[in-house]
This record gives sequence, C-alpha cells and structure tokens, in this order.
Amino acid sequence: MTKPVIAIVGRPNVGKSTIFNRIVGERVSIVEDIPGVTRDRIYSSADWLAHEFNIIDTGGIEIGDEPFLEQIRQQAEIAIDEADVIIFMTNGREGVTAADEQVAKILYKTKKPVVLAINKIDNPDMRHMIYDFYSLGFGEPWPISGSHGLGLGDLLDECAKHFPQPDEEQYDDDTIKFSLIGRPNVGKSSLVNAFLGQDRVIVSEIQGTTRDAIDSPYSYDGQDYVIIDTAGMRKKGKVYESTEKYSVLRALRAIERSDVVLVVLNADEGIQEQDKKIAGYAHEAGKAVIIVVNKWDAIEKDEKTMNIFTEQIREHFLFLDYAPIVFVSAKTKQRVHNILPIIKRVSENHAMRIQSSILNEVIEDSIARNPAPTDKGRRLRIYYATQVAIKPPTFVVFVNEPEMMHFSYERFLENRIRETFDFEGTPIRLITRARD
Ligand code: GDP
Ligand code: GDP
Repeated sequence: MTKPVIAIVGRPNVGKSTIFNRIVGERVSIVEDIPGVTRDRIYSSADWLAHEFNIIDTGGIEIGDEPFLEQIRQQAEIAIDEADVIIFMTNGREGVTAADEQVAKILYKTKKPVVLAINKIDNPDMRHMIYDFYSLGFGEPWPISGSHGLGLGDLLDECAKHFPQPDEEQYDDDTIKFSLIGRPNVGKSSLVNAFLGQDRVIVSEIQGTTRDAIDSPYSYDGQDYVIIDTAGMRKKGKVYESTEKYSVLRALRAIERSDVVLVVLNADEGIQEQDKKIAGYAHEAGKAVIIVVNKWDAIEKDEKTMNIFTEQIREHFLFLDYAPIVFVSAKTKQRVHNILPIIKRVSENHAMRIQSSILNEVIEDSIARNPAPTDKGRRLRIYYATQVAIKPPTFVVFVNEPEMMHFSYERFLENRIRETFDFEGTPIRLITRARD
C-alpha cells in the first residue's frame, strides 16, 4: 500500500523544516547508526493521530546555484510532481510578500489540493494576522506555530481530507518488486533496457499506485517481476532532475515500494560518498540489497581486478556485508542475465521464516560456544528467541536484562544465524527484550 504524500513549499525562513521536524518527530530506527550515512531530512514517513503519510520538505532540495526565485519555483514544481497534497507555508509575522506571490503563481497551475498554512502565529492574539493571506487565493489560511507546536493537528486533518483513496496493491505477493538506485549516470536506465531486452524502458506501462510512478512488469523463467521506476529512468528534462537531493528523494520513494534494491555503482568512477549514502537508505529501510558494479567493460582489468574491487566494496560498505556483488556491463550485456536469478534468491531469503525450535537450537549452541557477556558478576541470560517478522527477517531475543546485550554479542548471534541459514542479500534484525 502506498501512503499519501504531503509536500511543504514556501519561501526560505517561513519555518518549513521546523514544521517538518515537528511532524516527523524523532523517528527511532531499530538498526544501528551507519557510520558515514548522514540522514537527509527531506523525506520521511510520519504518522499523526490516525493519519499515516510521507512528507517532503522541498526547502531542503537545493537546485544548484540557481537564483533564489528560481529555487523556490523549482521546489514548487517538485511538490506539484511528487505530492498528493501541498502545504503552502507562509510567515504570518511578515504578511504576504512578493516571494509568496511567486510561489502562489506556480501553485495556481496545479490541480492538486493546496492547503495554506500561516506559520509563526505563536499565540491566539496574533490570529488576526492570517486574514491578509486570503488574498493569495487558496481559501482558508490555517494558523500554526512551528516553535510552539500549535495548529498542526487541524492543518493535517485538513490535508487528510484531500488524501486520495488508498490504492489496491495491484501486484500479488509472488511478484518481486525491485528498483535500481544510484547516482545519476551510473547506468540505471541502460540496465533496465538490458533487462527488458529492448531500447525503450517501458514494456507495458502501468500507471503506478504512486500516481505518477511508472512500473515495468515482466516475467522471466516463470517468475513475475516489477521494476519500480526511479529517478533518471524517466527523463522529462526538468531542471531539478539532475540535482542530488532530488535523486535521493526519488530513490527513497522507489526503495519504499521495493522488495529488492539494486545499488548500482560505476566501475569507471569507483566508489563515492554519495554511493554509500544511497546504499545506506536501502539498508535502513530493511530491503534486500544487491550491489551491481556496472560499466565493467569500460575499465582496464586483469584477473585480480574483480577481487580488488570486491575488497574495496566490502571496506566501504561495511553495513552491507550480506549483499552479493555482481560485475556487469549494460553496454555489452555481460552477466546482466545473472542478475534476475540473484534477485529471486535474495527475495526468497528476505521473506524466509525460521522455525522457533531450530532457531533456539542455534542460539543455545552459540551460547555454549561463546558465553553471554557478564557485568559486575551478573550474566546476560538468553531465554529464547523467535522470529516476529519477515521482509526483513526480524528476531526477538528474550533476556533477563536487555542493557547487558552488547553490540558485539548481538553481532556474534547474527553471524551464527547467518552461518546456519541462508540470509544472503537480506538484512536481519535482532531485537532484545526483557522477558516479563
Ligand atoms: P525554512 O527555511 O522555511 O525551512 O525555515 P526554518 O524552519 O529554518 O525556520 C526559520 C526560522 O524561523 C528559524 O529561526 C525558526 O526557529 C523560526 N521559526 C520556525 N517556526 C516558528 C514559529 O512558529 N514561530 C516563531 N516565532 N519562529 C519560528
Ligand atoms: P542513469 O542516469 O543511471 O539512468 O544512467 P544511463 O543509463 O542514462 O547511462 C549513463 C551513461 O552511461 C550513458 O551514456 C550510457 O550509454 C552509459 N553506460 C551505461 N551503461 C554502460 C556500460 O555498461 N558501459 C559503458 N561503457 N557505458 C555505459
């Protein structure tokens, strides 16, 4: 099920990121922090009262060194392209400015619902300041205060009135959904073309659940697949499409809808910071991951090159030690046919269920080999473990005192589980809980 998307637009300093952070809150991630992966706070899932949605802070998407007005113009275009509902934010203390009018002008062009929010109305005495904003032509202005957290419930209720009806998931459970993510020009669209064996990306266009997403469904060797559209695979010639933040946004949206994510690297350019960041998103989202090194035709190599490259990848992507690596060329099609069977394999691992009895044998055996940690004469006691979820496989380990479960011991248990069962390509999660 795809969640509705809200985008916040408005000129700088009206309080967009303050509101974004308020709404998103501190989303606690159950996976460990990934070194080198800083979170881009531009896109996040959120829930507020009964509403679940995704939210974009378009203010966080810088468009190169375009002049100020052009920046906010482009940001408004992104909101129009990506969102179901747009929050147009202004600053009540400053009244309607010329820049607000510029934003309004662009938003007039969209048929998407626009909800007008007047920020910095920090107390009820200031409410009269909102009336000015009727002149923008977006109906009722909603007073809010980002710093005091006022009015947000009403604002989001108003947004929710405009959410589209939830889509039926149009693919059955056996269909494997995958996406290709990576920096611009690593060869994502070329790879899709190579998969589909023709020059045009789209085999049978399906207007995806995310309104403007275009999915490519197809079958191979009796298995149904759907390629989820990502940035760069559907070039429309918009200025913002080549910006880094926008490609991150598209990647995040594609990851969300995928079972398996192909992180595409360019052999010709080596590993870059941005590659790690993008890969980190897939890992954090708990998706199955395959590392695809493309443009293998374009580099000089001997029999050692592949090993050297593999070592570098393992060094730079420590958190993806479970991900298989394939070296391919979209241009010559070398080894491209290997990718689909790997996608199938990791997707099965991602959805694997382990019987509790077998799991607990492994845990007991692990404790026998490497006793659980002690602290001030007390020992961590592990009572039992059980799998509570798939995609990714998630295990709860019941213990006497969760604080005594060190990261290193958790890692040891994870490794033992991986040695026993085939979890290649999928992250697995261990959650330690106190037994009542
Ligand atoms: P953005 O550029 O639109 O993302 O704006 P920011 O969220 O960075 O906020 C700009 C400034 O306005 C910051 O100094 C915030 O602390 C301040 N600010 C945000 N919301 C409010 C509010 O509701 N009331 C007041 N008084 N200040 C606010
Ligand atoms: P995207 O932005 O990630 O979708 O990348 P494209 O598929 O548009 O490819 C970017 C450029 O790299 C194009 O000029 C492609 O022809 C080229 N390219 C893609 N795959 C390969 C490959 O395997 N080998 C070589 N030599 N060039 C490639």
